Amino acid sequence: MIEVEHLTKYYGSFLAVDDISFTIEDGHVYGFLGPNGAGKSTTMNIITGCLSATAGRVRIDGHDIYEEPDKAKRLIGYLPEHPPLYLNESPREYLRFVGEAKGLRGEELQRQIAEVVEKTGIAAVQNRRIAALSKGYRQRVGIAQALLGNPRVIILDEPTVGLDPLQIIEIRDLIRELGKTHTVIFSSHILSEVQAICDEILMIAKGRLAAFDTPENLEKELLARNELRLTTDAAPGELRALLAGVEAADTLTVESETPYTVASVRTKGADIYALSRAVFLAFAGSGHVLLELSLKKGTLEDVFIELTETPGKPGAPEAEEKEG
Ligand code: ADP
Ligand code: MG
Repeated sequence: MIEVEHLTKYYGSFLAVDDISFTIEDGHVYGFLGPNGAGKSTTMNIITGCLSATAGRVRIDGHDIYEEPDKAKRLIGYLPEHPPLYLNESPREYLRFVGEAKGLRGEELQRQIAEVVEKTGIAAVQNRRIAALSKGYRQRVGIAQALLGNPRVIILDEPTVGLDPLQIIEIRDLIRELGKTHTVIFSSHILSEVQAICDEILMIAKGRLAAFDTPENLEKELLARNELRLTTDAAPGELRALLAGVEAADTLTVESETPYTVASVRTKGADIYALSRAVFLAFAGSGHVLLELSLKKGTLEDVFIELTETPGKPGAPEAEEKEG
């Protein structure tokens, strides 16, 4: 549905999007996850044809966004980070204006307005001034205008930013609902939000695509980093000797020695339970006991932090300065 190839964007000499490529399939909810400044809005603005790229290409259902902008843009509904809402108008007037700009007229326009008003739950406020609406309702109006013209893809840039917790839940539910009938791409800097709503996560860090997979697979990849934490009455030397016979045990880190030894053990292999079992059996009959044994699993949060905090990647401002 959307093919992005080697997308690159410089603002002056600053590299904001660094050679990003990915393909978006029909009928899923995709989350663009990344901290502020990662390049999410820049990427979305380019995909939707609102901003030119320095290099690379974007095709929407085969239509190049620069070569066939009309055909490509018709397939996309976009809620930018700062939507241009007309505060003195009512949602209804605003939707009519946007609908006409999208080429809708007469009965079809009226029908579609009624439909998006219903879908986004703004019927009760459709004749009030937009200025008088809460941020949550304004965001719904923004989503409603994106839905006009019945585009196949809906792109929402940080739709939950600035909302209160209840409004956030409502907008998330709305995104899920839209995901049943549209391909949805939305951006967020909140991991749990993306994890809760998306089928696929695109992690963006410093202008690069750092990971692209399902939340489940991203979690699974982490199993390789698994670690056991144990507390034992064996002294560190004794523990070392005990674990020497455990093949799956890779590195041993002693965290404290008194009153008991607290240590973590990592495994090279992917199976944390095999390590756990081997450690348990090594203790059995050794004369020492395991007072505590726990699995320290990696979380998506860990990967996210790791990916977004790695310094010195190309695209970092300091790398740019040297070149320019
Ligand atoms: P995100 O949406 O992930 O927060 P953006 O795409 O808005 O990231 O910005 C990516 C980087 O590009 C940031 O470092 C930002 O400061 C910079 N940037 C964004 N827009 C401009 C602009 N118009 N001119 C110069 N730099 C910009
Ligand atoms: Mg942004």
